[in-house]
Amino acid sequence: MFSKILIANRGEIAARVIRTCKNMGIKTVAIYSEADADAPHVKLADEAFLVGKPQVNESYLNINKIIEIAKESGAEAIHPGYGLLSENTNFANACEEAGIVFIGPSSDVIANMGSKIEARKSMQDAGVPLVPGINYALEDKHEAAEVAESIGFPVMLKASSGGGGIGMQVANNSDDILKAFEGNQKRANDFFGDGAMYVEKLIENPRHIEIQVLADQYGNTVYLWERECSIQRRNQKVVEEAPSPFLDEETRNKMGRVAVKAAKSIGYSNAGTIEFIVDENKNFYFLEMNTRLQVEHPVTEEITGLDIVEQQIRIAAGETLKVKQSDITRNGHAIEVRIYAEDPKTFFPSPGKINYLKVPKSENIRHELAIHENSQITPFYDPMIAKLVVKGNTREDAIRSMSKALEEYKVEGIKTNIPMLQKVIDHPAYMEGDTTTNFVEKYYKKELSNK
Ligand code: ADP
Ligand code: ADP
Ligand code: MG
Repeated sequence: MFSKILIANRGEIAARVIRTCKNMGIKTVAIYSEADADAPHVKLADEAFLVGKPQVNESYLNINKIIEIAKESGAEAIHPGYGLLSENTNFANACEEAGIVFIGPSSDVIANMGSKIEARKSMQDAGVPLVPGINYALEDKHEAAEVAESIGFPVMLKASSGGGGIGMQVANNSDDILKAFEGNQKRANDFFGDGAMYVEKLIENPRHIEIQVLADQYGNTVYLWERECSIQRRNQKVVEEAPSPFLDEETRNKMGRVAVKAAKSIGYSNAGTIEFIVDENKNFYFLEMNTRLQVEHPVTEEITGLDIVEQQIRIAAGETLKVKQSDITRNGHAIEVRIYAEDPKTFFPSPGKINYLKVPKSENIRHELAIHENSQITPFYDPMIAKLVVKGNTREDAIRSMSKALEEYKVEGIKTNIPMLQKVIDHPAYMEGDTTTNFVEKYYKKELSNK
């Protein structure tokens, strides 16, 4: 086992990874930018190194500097968290070259799944059901319109390298796609340095349901059930839960087996997530694979009792998986909400200084917090400032606890999406499990516009 790990991330996820390292008796090294000198993860780690200026390109994405710090501090492994360098093949390669273990899959698997087009090819070969669409990059908007026509509208235009809901757009007709193509391609180029675009069928009134897998380096692979993450804004998740209120036992097991097959077919190792889009008839289709720890991993931990970060570290250290499929149980119901520093009406980021903070406390609440009173929320990073997770015996219990927790949660100085989350959680349609990906559009925005 490693004796020291560097965490190449910031915010709540850096703090969360450090917590598991501490439980395992592993020393931790934090990195921080000039904007994060008094951030929680810096205080929690055994050592902390300044990595550069606030801008991510000069700090949390500075591969050479991070490797240098790892060497200097004697860290034997690097946990990349999510976002930032977690799915960056150059970084995984740089770790390999420096003789440092990258806690994640191999760089070629990251590259394969990092391109949604390449991932679709691999999954098709493995016999995993795909959303109907193409597996190559479009030349231009005219080809996009032609292809969309042949697939049949409505379609989703997507950036092959996209993430966080960026670079995708629904098109209902040729005009839509002709208008949307170049803008989305530019955004994809700006954000991901890759303008490759493709189209797939838009699945209507769908649910986003994903399967967590764990695989060791010897091919042993298990699934840790599903998470439903259908409640989204701007195609990005804001409420996640496990189990899904929509799935029956048969579909759940089938999805789990398909996810394991998918992971095995690409020689996957470490923790990963196969995302599926599920239609009204419970047909499920591969969306993408995330080759890293997922933001919403806590809900799975809450119902299975497993620590996914600990599993990641053990796998990276070369241990064989100790858990067998039949050992993985499911207890109770867990819900996570992502708390963003953003305007609850427009969903635009709302940076500023937090001048008052009161958080709910209770035995069934797990709170992943990246801020404190007087924290300055800067525009340099993702505006997610905390994750609130509750556990209940039943879904109803969990919803009630979440509702109460959100009522008690007070942040002043910046705008947050807490009022929006409260409306979602308290909505009768949520209680009924009408959790399609257009929930926010259908129930929340409509209500706002009626006022
Ligand atoms: P997950 O797939 O784990 O649920 P998301 O889909 O929300 O996470 O985001 C995918 C990744 O992209 C996350 O690791 C997140 O940190 C990162 N991300 C989210 N929003 C942005 C953004 N606006 N710019 C750059 N990266 C982002
Ligand atoms: P990202 O890499 O940004 O997470 P995904 O491919 O995982 O992109 O899609 C993000 C979300 O966008 C999905 O959870 C879903 O809500 C929506 N979406 C993506 N593709 C489709 C599709 N073909 N049909 C309907 N919704 C889709
Ligand atoms: Mg996704």
